[in-house]
Amino acid sequence: MYRLHVGIDDTDSPEGMCTTYISCVIIQELKSCGFSLEDHPRLIRLNPFAPHKTRGNGAVTFTVLAESREDLNTVKGIVLEGVEELAELDSERTNPGVVFYTGEITEEMREFALSAIRRILRIEDARRLAERVGAEVHGFKKGRGIIGALAAIGCPLDDSTYELLTYRVPENYGKPRRIDPESVARMDDETGSETFDNIDGDYIAIEPHTPCPILYGIRGESPEVLLRAMEMVRVDEEVERYCIFETNQHTDQHIQDAGRIADMETFGCYRVRGEVIDGPRVIEGGHVFFTLGDDSGQIECGAYEPTKDFRKIILELIPGDVLTVYGGIGAQGTMNIEKIHLERLAELYVEENPICTCGKRMKSAGRNKGFKCPSCGRRLRSSRKVRRALERSVGEGYYEVPTCARRHLSKQLVRMGISSPPSEATESSSTRQSDPLNKKWEDL
Ligand code: ATP
Repeated sequence: MYRLHVGIDDTDSPEGMCTTYISCVIIQELKSCGFSLEDHPRLIRLNPFAPHKTRGNGAVTFTVLAESREDLNTVKGIVLEGVEELAELDSERTNPGVVFYTGEITEEMREFALSAIRRILRIEDARRLAERVGAEVHGFKKGRGIIGALAAIGCPLDDSTYELLTYRVPENYGKPRRIDPESVARMDDETGSETFDNIDGDYIAIEPHTPCPILYGIRGESPEVLLRAMEMVRVDEEVERYCIFETNQHTDQHIQDAGRIADMETFGCYRVRGEVIDGPRVIEGGHVFFTLGDDSGQIECGAYEPTKDFRKIILELIPGDVLTVYGGIGAQGTMNIEKIHLERLAELYVEENPICTCGKRMKSAGRNKGFKCPSCGRRLRSSRKVRRALERSVGEGYYEVPTCARRHLSKQLVRMGISSPPSEATESSSTRQSDPLNKKWEDL
């Protein structure tokens, strides 16, 4: 018996198609020819900052069981034909790659996969590794997809989640999706923490907002819960097919420990500990930034407008706060925050004139002349004001961006077994007397 690992990537364009859909069609064709798959196909998300990604930088891999060399060739033929037929080859940006591999997954392949998730690689890196391990690569056009295809095959899944994807019939591509929002809310309620990121207020997060073939995708901890969830979601259009993928989504596989700020690189994804040096500040468009520092250097961290109320937490930070930031460094060198662990709050205080023994607040007696009580006339020689500690409206603990702004790879606090501490800063603006975000918006 042969185990043939198949990797596929870079088949879609912003105008349509999707590597998961093409894989589903190919898998169905393989099954109808009598082949079976070992386990679920796997959807592997790669570096969210890869410059050539179309959307979520996903690649697909699956393992086909074949009895003879002849079968292996039949499988390869079906896969290549499927990609050639369905990939958006006319789009300049679509450069598919298909990789076949029958050996054991080597340490080098695992490392390559983690590099593709955490760094930026070149097509030559993939070609060289494929040659070393004896993988067969097929690049269409520029063949950039072989990076993702080989990485998907080698990707270790120590932690994983599942995603059930349903697909539309082609005549509905590009049309508004007809998903009953109430049924999604019910499904979210009934499946509890076994599924995640289904809705965010009125926003239906299971629905993509691109013209791709996907109708909706439900994410969760097991294939069983996803099948139950699919039964609960009501749609008013035909579902052509569905498929369940095992995936590295929501595992933080992209996050590497940055020992020091100075060691972090552009397009890398990290967890880094430091102290707020400066900020926070709001810029036009509603993006909030602060400067994080450690002994080695400083980096600007950003909570962008799509992170909505999460920015209110960031606006509560003050210099001296110690925190660990999780996120990735974009082209501008700013760390895009995915979540934070606020570890130590700095003291927030106001400086005031002292209170006299008679109970009245004293007044300045002139520059460097101490204080004088306006009531009993008592004098103090020292000009030093007294500090009064103020209560912080944010507490120590973990905070994450909302569902609508979550990266595919980002591990939710609920998956980490952590709940976000209650904080005044995330109360809805209608229940707050003064909303620091809105106030600063108006100041712009
Ligand atoms: P979809 O998953 O919906 O098909 P996408 O957003 O995944 O679209 P692709 O069309 O797959 O985007 O394009 C991503 C391209 O970038 C692929 O060619 C892939 O091989 C390549 N790539 C992925 N990760 C890296 C990386 N870390 N370094 C360099 N190239 C990468």
